[in-house]
Formats: sequence, structure tokens, C-alpha cells
Amino acid sequence: MPEKAPTLSTSLHSIKGVGPARADALSAIGIHIVADLLHYYPRKHLDRTTITLISKLQKDKEATVVGNVEAADIRQGKRRQYFQAILSDGKGMLTLTWFNAAQYMKRTIKIGDRLAVSGKVEFFNGFQIVHPEYDKLKDNEDPVNSGLVIPLYSIPAELKKTRIDSRTLRRLIKTISDSLKEIPDHFSMEFKNQNHLCPLDQALRNIHFAESVSVLNEAVNRLKFDEHFFLQMLMALRKSSIQQTGTKALIKIGPQVKLISDSLDFELTSAQKKVIKEIKDDMARPFSMNRLLQGDVGSGKTIVSILVAAIAVANSVQVAVMAPTEILAQQHYQSFKIYAETARMTCAILVGGTPAKERKAILDGLATGRIDIIIGTHALIQEDVAFKELGLAIVDEQHRFGVLQRGDLTGKGFNPHFLAMTATPIPRTLAITYHGDMDLSIIDEMPKDRIPIITKVVEETRLEKIYTFMKEEVKAGRQCMVVYPLVKETEKSDLAAAVEMHGNLSEYVFPELIVGLIHGRMKKDDKDEVMDAYARNDIHILVSTTVIEVGIDIPNATVMLIENADRFGLTQLHQLRGRVGRGSKKSYCILVRRNFTENSKKRLQIMESTSDGFVISDEDLKLRGPGEFFGIRQSGFLKYKIADMVTDGPILRKARQSAFELVKSDPNLNQPEHELIRIRFMNEYQDKLDRANIS
Ligand code: ADP
Ligand code: MG
Repeated sequence: MPEKAPTLSTSLHSIKGVGPARADALSAIGIHIVADLLHYYPRKHLDRTTITLISKLQKDKEATVVGNVEAADIRQGKRRQYFQAILSDGKGMLTLTWFNAAQYMKRTIKIGDRLAVSGKVEFFNGFQIVHPEYDKLKDNEDPVNSGLVIPLYSIPAELKKTRIDSRTLRRLIKTISDSLKEIPDHFSMEFKNQNHLCPLDQALRNIHFAESVSVLNEAVNRLKFDEHFFLQMLMALRKSSIQQTGTKALIKIGPQVKLISDSLDFELTSAQKKVIKEIKDDMARPFSMNRLLQGDVGSGKTIVSILVAAIAVANSVQVAVMAPTEILAQQHYQSFKIYAETARMTCAILVGGTPAKERKAILDGLATGRIDIIIGTHALIQEDVAFKELGLAIVDEQHRFGVLQRGDLTGKGFNPHFLAMTATPIPRTLAITYHGDMDLSIIDEMPKDRIPIITKVVEETRLEKIYTFMKEEVKAGRQCMVVYPLVKETEKSDLAAAVEMHGNLSEYVFPELIVGLIHGRMKKDDKDEVMDAYARNDIHILVSTTVIEVGIDIPNATVMLIENADRFGLTQLHQLRGRVGRGSKKSYCILVRRNFTENSKKRLQIMESTSDGFVISDEDLKLRGPGEFFGIRQSGFLKYKIADMVTDGPILRKARQSAFELVKSDPNLNQPEHELIRIRFMNEYQDKLDRANIS
């Protein structure tokens, strides 16, 4: 064992007092060296300001309480035993209840223990918290009577096994940091002053052991800033490298755009005209465009993409349009085909199920340049798909592709201009976090002829009436959709629920109507058949899992019934709602609520009160957090431990500005004073750098 003082890179295995079992356990959760430990930030801090007196508790609110255990024992319930403890803070009593593992709890929590507990407060013969989070505090750790700030850490199972708890971690981190020399800072004094940041050394110590809430806040601010800063550096580097990527400037306008415009039976909204101009100007530069087109469901992104595709074709390059599902690709193909014919462009569709012979002909057409526009799914990025000259790549609903990278499509040799489209209105902070390397174009206006959709939240008891109403709509020639959510645990039960409901609806509720079923596990041909039948109005009511979420366009559909609506995110509900109201008839969105918590009520009321996608997505982000926001997790992308893009708006903007300034002044990060920034950046984001120019 080395006797020298530890440094940031000292392995925990060689720190005296850690022991091999615990060092292994820490390793198992990614804490290998001293630096990892310092960056293992507390999940929460206890101090006077975050602790509630028992006498001041409020029902249904989350609270943290510190007190002494006055009584603790196993009790006999109707069915089984449970464990209860009474906590007193001198002014009041709080009951703590654990229904599971009563024996274990009895061994763990003893009379006289001093505990910090948190959870939702209930009222049941007095205040009570069921299954609280708890931490034991030692005598000299009393945030109530002192100005102390006590850090509490998350303790995953790996650590529990070797009996590491918050207190052990506190002691360990304290011992190590006391013997640690000053931690070098990647930011200069000047930079810190400019951005009102405390030194890294101070931040990394105070995040664990702050003497007061105000120094803790400084530490939090600094560490948040760092996380935002390095992600924004990635964005800045990507953006600058894309901006330096030469490509063909698409300058000519050509006759195609006019032919298509003249054939439209509506006038483009001014928002559509605005974004078309932004895209056109961007493509006219000899550098690769990297742009995100945002527009709410039904705002008319398709025609925008068709018109800009026509500009590309006028410049003798090819266009690829990629969609996340076959249904959506088909739908795009139908729209593109009509206008392509009008403007004498050739267009084709390529999906996973395209027969081999047809596929061969298409690949041939792409290689020779006979095909101007290719629409498709993932099938477009297969290796043997080669273009004569790809000039513009358009990706619809990019976030639904998960890990799809810009380079997958643009890597086909020509650095084409790139346009991503999304119907999910992305809150500003999220947009610059996830898409900080892109320019934004926003369609912030709906076509004028739209009749607002009527949204109603109902409970099960109203279903009878709703079904009657649906029958009337069908009698009047319209169509309906019934959607079942993904049930969390298994996809199977989602499917099962939809299948069962389909049986129920077709046999008992609507025996005289044709009720169709579509879900993600169906074969492509079967799906197409159902969708075609629905488009022809050969199916009156379509029961679906969420496969219809994006894209499909059936103007004759007027009723969207969403079962268990409380299980969906608001953004998703908004997308689903956008499937109706696409024609000239009055449309309805019925949200069936089967969960009676306050929160779910509040969430669904937002849907009743607004149809503004941006308002909805902001609320959604606040209620669900960014991880769930897109419906799929963007795994591995965000390395945030302490930063929070929902609440960090001002810090994020400052970090972004300074990261972009830095990259502008030193694009390759090779100035010596940026050495430490470069090292940390490469540690964290090297693999995400794509084509940016530093090594
Ligand atoms: P989204 O942005 O959700 O992809 P679409 O492009 O599918 O929306 O457009 C929805 C419907 O609105 C389509 O039927 C389209 O033809 C129509 N549409 C598009 N632009 C306009 C407009 N300016 N005025 C009227 N209808 C329009
Ligand atoms: Mg669309």
C-alpha cells in the first residue's frame, strides 16, 4: 500500500481503510478512483432549510423530517406482519410504516436511533409516512440544532451488500478529501470571474461537506455549469465542423417548385413560407445544412419537405426521406408521389419488406440517378444503398430512431444537406441540449381552416354514452380510433389488452360495425392491409396500440378514444389527438381516465385546456422529466449527474454561450491554457464527437 497522499487518480483499492470488498463494490457502480468518488454527488442534502417540523407537516406533500425513534416494533396486520416506528422531533410524532421485510426492519431500526426520513406524508390516525427513505444520523451530525449540511447518497444494492451507507460514504470521502492536495481547475480565474463560478476544488469539497447552505449552492452552481458546458462544447464542435463541411450549394430554383405550388388547393401559411425560405437559403450555401424543423402535428411539414426536395432535384441531386415506421414511410410516399408526378420527378419507396427484385431495381435507379427522391425506413441506410449524388437527406421524427446519427445517412459520401423534422414541440432548454448543434426552423402557425378538436376527460361510467356517440358518428359516415397504451411491464400485456378490447368492442359493443385491429407485432403486409382498408372506410373503428402515433393521415376520422389516458405522456397524447381533426369535420378526443390520483387529473386537464403543443410539452417536461420526454430514452447521451435541463435555464444559456465562444476562439482546443478543458472533454465526449475536428 502506498503511504503517499492520494491523488485524484489513486485507485480506491489502494486507499487505506477501504478494504477490498468495499473497493470492489464501489467499482461495480463505476467508482474506481478518488476522482470518481468526489464526483459521486449526494442525492440530497439535509439542512435546517430542507427539514420540516412534524408539527408543520402537510398531508400529501413530500417532506423530510429528522427525529428520534421513540418506539419500534412489529405489528400484526389482518393478513401479515408489518413494522412500525414512531419518530419524535420533540414537538410532534410521526408514524413510519414498512409493510415489507418486517423482521429486517426490526433489526435495522432501534429505539433511540436518530433518523432522517423522507416521503409523502399521509394522515391516518396522525401523520404517517409509508416506506420512507431513511438515513441514520450520528450524534455529531445534527442538521437541526446546528448549521450543518449533511449529504445523503444513493446507496445501490451493490453498496448495501458490503454495508456501505450514507454515513460510511461521508466518512470515507471526508478522510480522502482531507488528505487531498488542491484539485486543479480546468477554468481560468478570468473565466470563473466572468461566469461567477467558484473554484472546482471548492465545489468538489463543498458538494459533500458544506459549512452552510450558501457555499453548497455555489458548489451546485459550479458543478451544474461544468456539465452543461462540456455538453455544449460537444454541440459547438459538431456545429463548427459541420459548418466547415463543404457540399454542393443548391442554388437553382427550377420549374419544379412552381409546378407544385400551382397545384396546391390551399395557400401556404406564412410560417410555412418562412421556414421554406430559411431552408432554401441554408441549402444555397456550399456548406452542409444541419437543421431541425419543428412544427406541431398538422402544421404542414410534409408539403414543406416536398417543396425543399423539389429545390434539390432542380439542382440535379437526389433526396432521401427517412421515416421511423413503414406506415409513415408509406404515407410520405403517397404524398410525395402525387407532387413528384406534378413536377416530373421520379420517386420510389424502399422498406425492409421490399421484394428482392424490386429492391434491386431501386438500388440500380439510385446508383444511376434515375430515381430523384427515395422514401424509406431504416432500409435506406443499409450498406449496399448507394446514390449517384445524394444532395439532401430528410429525417422525419428523428428522435424515434433512437441512436440514429446524422452520419448514418449523410455518410453516403456526399455530405448532403440535412433536415430533421419533428412534430414534438421541444422546449427551448431541451432543444439546445439535445439538438444544440442544429439550426432551428419552427412552424408556429396552423393552417387557417382547422376546426379545434374538442377534448374531454371521462371516467369509465361515461363510456356507454361515448360508444353511442361513436355509433352516430359512424352512421354519419365518419370513422373512429380507439388506442391502448403500452402497459409498462411487458409489451405483451399491451398487445393482450388491445386484442381483448378489440374482441369486446367488435362482438358486444359495435356488433353491427366493422372493427379493425392494428398493432406493432403484425406483419407488414397485414398492417398495410388494415391501414388501406381504414383509409377506404372499409373499417369503421380501428383499435390500435400506439403504432398509429405518428403520421397517419385519415381526414375522415373524427373520434379518437384513448383508453387509460393517464398512462401516456402529454406529448404523446397530443400526438395521438393530432390524428383526428385533419379534415373539415368537427372532431373529438376522448381521454378515459382510470387512475384517480390528483396528479393524473391535473395532467389530463391540461389536455382539455390547450391545444398548443409548446405549452403541453413544457408541462410534460416538468411533470415527467427529460428522460421520459421523448418516449424513448436517449440512452448514454446525457451524462448529467447534477444538471437539470428543466430548471437550469439560465446556467445552461451561460454555459452554452461560453462554450461556443471558446470553440470559436480555439476551434481545435490546442492552446495550452485549454489543455485541461480538452482532457475532460475528451474523457466524456470523445465517442460522441462524430466528425468534429479535434484529436
Ligand atoms: P404534419 O406537420 O403533422 O406532418 P401534414 O404535413 O401531414 O402535417 O399536414 C396536415 C394536413 O394539412 C395535410 O392534409 C396537408 O395537406 C394539409 N395542409 C398543409 N399545409 C396546409 C395549408 N397551408 N393550408 C391548408 N392545409 C394544409
Ligand atoms: Mg407529418
